[in-house]
Amino acid sequence: MRIVLVGPPGAGKGTQAAYLAENLSIPHISTGDLFRANISQGTELGQKAQEYMRSGQLVPDEVTIGMAKDRMEQPDAEVGFLLDGFPRNLAQAEALDAILKDAGLKLDAVLDLEVPEDEVVKRIAGRRMCRNDSSHIFHVEYTPSKVEGVCDLCGGELYQREDDSEETVRKRLAVYHSETEPIIDYYRAQSLVTTISALGQVSEVTTRAMAALGSGE
Ligand code: AMP
Repeated sequence: MRIVLVGPPGAGKGTQAAYLAENLSIPHISTGDLFRANISQGTELGQKAQEYMRSGQLVPDEVTIGMAKDRMEQPDAEVGFLLDGFPRNLAQAEALDAILKDAGLKLDAVLDLEVPEDEVVKRIAGRRMCRNDSSHIFHVEYTPSKVEGVCDLCGGELYQREDDSEETVRKRLAVYHSETEPIIDYYRAQSLVTTISALGQVSEVTTRAMAALGSGE
């Protein structure tokens, strides 16, 4: 299956993507994670992305699209993939269509995670990520780790993303509304979109998502 996950920052895309990709046996491709890996490795691509990410803006398409294409062309993605955070604007959605068309492929579904804006801000303010594995995500109030600052799953150090400050979150939300939301209508026109509520327990949202994808658990 080839799936796109959309939703505002803090909707739980990364958390859900990790579970869904595992259930569906397809790789989870997160452009945000790819950028963060490039930044921590000090690559040229990471240097190009860093300032945009820090200020909550989109990294330019000429950097992002090539990086996403390279990742989608890796052998493990032959069986399909779950895209998290890509595409994030109409130009990227059109580029993705072209990439898939060239390969004789198409998208199967677009899953839209819906969450009220005040909830988004609360979720992001308390979010903590593991330095070892970006799919290990906690929340100081909703899903706290057993020991503060330590990942339950691997013992890694938990940290707060630099772009999770309230000011940057507001900027990221504004960018989401102006640049990313239009892709939902673009995909609606192709009858690909299912919108589900991202409220409730993580496992409840996963169950809803799997049902929406026609792969009920
Ligand atoms: P995320 O981890 O998906 O929240 O992404 C974190 C940041 O990485 C975003 O705020 C952007 O600065 C950048 N980013 C991730 N994916 C994209 C994309 N598809 N296009 C442009 N910038 C992106």
